[in-house]
Parts: sequence; C-alpha cells; structure tokens
Amino acid sequence: MKTDNRYARLDSRLFHKQPPEPLSNPIAGHFNAALAEQLDWQFTDANDWVPILAGQVVPEGFDPLAMAYAGHQFGQWAGQLGDGRGLLLAQIIDKNGQLQDLHLKGVGLTPYSRMGDGRAVLRSVIREYLAGHALTALGIASSNTLGFVSSSTPVQREKLERGACLLRVADSHVRLGHFEWINKFAPDALPDFTTAMIESYFTECQSAESPILAFAQAVIAKTAKTIADWQLVGFAHGVMNTDNLSITGSTLDFGPYGFMERFEPTWINNHSDHSGRYVYQNQPSIAHWNLWVWLGQLLPLNTVDPLVTKESLSAVLSTFEPEFLHQYTLGMSKKMGLNEDQKGVLELSSDFLRILERNRLDLTNSFRLLSDDSEQGWRLLRLECISIEEMEKFDTFTAQYQTLISESGLSDTQRKSMMDDANPIYVLRNHIAQTAIERAEAGDFSEVARVFDLLATPFTRQIERETPADIAPMSDDHPPVSVSCSS
Ligand code: AMP
Ligand code: MG
Repeated sequence: MKTDNRYARLDSRLFHKQPPEPLSNPIAGHFNAALAEQLDWQFTDANDWVPILAGQVVPEGFDPLAMAYAGHQFGQWAGQLGDGRGLLLAQIIDKNGQLQDLHLKGVGLTPYSRMGDGRAVLRSVIREYLAGHALTALGIASSNTLGFVSSSTPVQREKLERGACLLRVADSHVRLGHFEWINKFAPDALPDFTTAMIESYFTECQSAESPILAFAQAVIAKTAKTIADWQLVGFAHGVMNTDNLSITGSTLDFGPYGFMERFEPTWINNHSDHSGRYVYQNQPSIAHWNLWVWLGQLLPLNTVDPLVTKESLSAVLSTFEPEFLHQYTLGMSKKMGLNEDQKGVLELSSDFLRILERNRLDLTNSFRLLSDDSEQGWRLLRLECISIEEMEKFDTFTAQYQTLISESGLSDTQRKSMMDDANPIYVLRNHIAQTAIERAEAGDFSEVARVFDLLATPFTRQIERETPADIAPMSDDHPPVSVSCSS
C-alpha cells in the first residue's frame, strides 16, 4: 500500500499529531475485504487488521493526526470543533490511483474533544459501518468503512456501553468547516490551504482563469449531486451541520441518519433535532445555506485572486438550485423509466410521491412495484390505497404515466431494466440496523455480516439471504427506533 500523507505536511496549526489511545481486548466485528482490496492493503494473517483498528498497532508509514475544524451547528456558529475522537491515520493512493483517507474513529481524547470522552460505542459504530456500505453500494458518494472492532473498554452514554472503533475510508475528510476554522484561527493560512485542496481534490480547476472560483463551482456541483442522490433514495442525514459536509460531496459522519420507509417529506429521524431543521424535505435548502456560509469563507481570497468577489461568489451559489434540480430530474427519470429530457417527468413523479404520502406507502417498495411488469405491480399499489377516492387518483396517475411511457419510445424491457437499476430492493431500514446491533451487543456479529452482504447488491433480489423484515416498513403500531445524537 502506498502512503501519501499530504495533510500531515500542511501548516502545523491545522492539526495535532498524536498516536491512538487503544481499546482493551479488541474483538473483530466485521471486515470489508473488497475495500481492503481496493486500497491494496494486504494483511499477512487474516485478523491482522484487528490490533490496527483497536489503535494498538500503528503501521509503518502512517502519521496519525487530529484535524482542526469549526462549523455552524443547527444554524449557529459553534466555534472550534475538530476530530474529537478520531484520527487521520494516513492518506494512501488506492488501486485506481485515487487519494484516500484512513480515519480511525473512537481512539481517545484529542485537543478537540471538548466535553467528549474520545470514544465511540458499538451501536453507533455499526450504524456508521452499515450506512457507508449501503450508500456506496447504491452508487452514492460516501465514506465507507474498512472494518470495526468491539472491546471491553466501558463507555458511558445513557447507560454503560462497549467502546468500539471503525476505520473510515473517504476521498477526503476536509469539511466545509475547515475553512471556517482557518478564517477564525489562522486566517493567513487560507490561500495555501485552498491551493492545496485544489491540488489534491480538484486538479481540473488548476487551469481555469480563476482556479478558486472553479473550485467553488465544483464543490457546489458535487454537493448538489450528492443531495439529489439522498433525496431520490430517501436518505436523511440528520445532522447537516457545516462540519459534517465534505468538500468532495462524500457523505460523512453517520449519526442519527435514516432511510425513509413510508414517504413523509417532513420526516425527521433524529430525535435530538427538536425544531426539525434537518427533516428530509429541508436537505436541499440546508445544503444551500451551508454552501452560502462556506462561500463567504472564500471572500478573503480576493487578496490573492481579484476575480473572487462577493458578486462572483454569489453567482456561483446561484448555480446550486438549478444543478440540484437537474440531477434530481435526471435521477427521477431513471426511477420512472422515462427519458431524461421528457416533459412532465418531475410533475408526474411529484404526483406519485403525493400518492405515497397520503396512503402511507413505502418509498423503496413502491418505486420497485412501479417497474414490476407494470400491470401486476400497479394493481398491487392500487390495492394499497386507503380509499376509493385515492384509488381513483391512482388511476389518474397511471393514465398519465401510460401516456409518458408511450411518448418515451422505450420498450418495456428497456424501461424495466432502467428502473430496476435505479430503484433498490434493499435499503438500510432502521429496524434492520437495530436487529444487527442488538445481536452484536450480545456478541453475535452474524447479522451484521448478513446485512452487509444483502446491502452489497441492493438492486438484486436475494431470496436465499432476505428475511421478511428486510423488505417491509416498520408497522405503524410498532414503537419507532429512537435515534439521537448520542453516539
Ligand atoms: P458529530 O456530532 O459527531 O458530528 O460531532 C461534532 C463534534 O463533536 C466533532 O468535533 C466531534 O469530534 C466531537 N465529538 C462527538 N462525540 C465525541 C466524543 N465522544 N468525544 C469527543 N469528541 C466528540
Ligand atoms: Mg461530525
């Protein structure tokens, strides 16, 4: 494996170098062998990864450090944050020539720990492990995880829990909040830092008339694409603070996230978000707000590039909404099996989503039924409508849908295959993760392994692996799985 620890070579005010504080008696949780292969990381013995993930062994060539960053949390300036319980262990070049960060989470106190204990608990580590894997397999830009370990280290949350660690892999851990930290605490470092980010992650911007504006534009476009992908699959991040959004658009920091079951635009999975700021339907506008905060951080670069002005940065920000809509429409036309430039796709999909909302239907299953030999799937959906009136509305929808299908000129086979590639069968429903967590807390990791395998190919039916709970929304009379910021 080839290391390239370039962050460790930046201005030393930006981080604090330190070794991990190991966990006691680590126990192997699960390991993502395909990711190890992609990283070209070979282990001599099968379980050699365990002491590394427990922080007991730091491989040669690694240069662990905690990054400083700041951010706006729930709309308020939160001051210095930073890696309070994780360390960037190393940066490596993977098999595709791509720079990847190896970040170990749960390895003790750092100068950025504030009131925290520097640890992570098994429950939240498994949630992050499965979510990064699920999004990656869905083709959504995301951090992924090489593996996780449990341990006998006690960690106090609402109750005493097991300490655990995971090794997160992402193309970057640089957050929008890194720029906020620099402007507040080391403003003279901003030009060099920005140049380094462009060099590492946005090389194509280097030749632009204004590399900084091109970089800003690229960050906007990447974020718009990721948020559109979240909306299409029903993913709610839960804590879209500026310190939790990466500059490369990769989904980071899985806390109180959720995959929506019954379609409900105001759905909030995070029980700590009392005001509902981060509900599913707000995600695009929150991303816009975060990017507005971030672009403001680039303004001081006017001293090194006069093209960077309030006006030019505003112009960049104004591309977010059309870019988001473009990506969302593109994705939605695939979900509906229609051509991307066809008129009426967005309106028709909104009608469908409103039907799902009023009839409390499952987002994932309903889109899948829409492609299910059309007539059969449509009949099932119609039967799930709660009243005659709703059935009639569904009939109006299918009549319009039929018209668009005819206009598309696509064959049934083409349409079905397009839809089956865009509409997953399996998503990480809260109760799926919860069952895997409960078994793991009792020492049995086999359910984590099963769910991991199931979610590796979410568009393919896996009769032999699937259980009824994998494809059914939680019943309304079941108490919801409570997910909060506690992790
Ligand atoms: P999060 O809400 O997980 O995105 O974390 C926000 C900030 O709190 C980041 O700076 C984290 O590093 C820090 N943090 C969260 N949990 C802990 C913990 N248990 N110990 C130390 N720092 C933490
Ligand atoms: Mg965070």
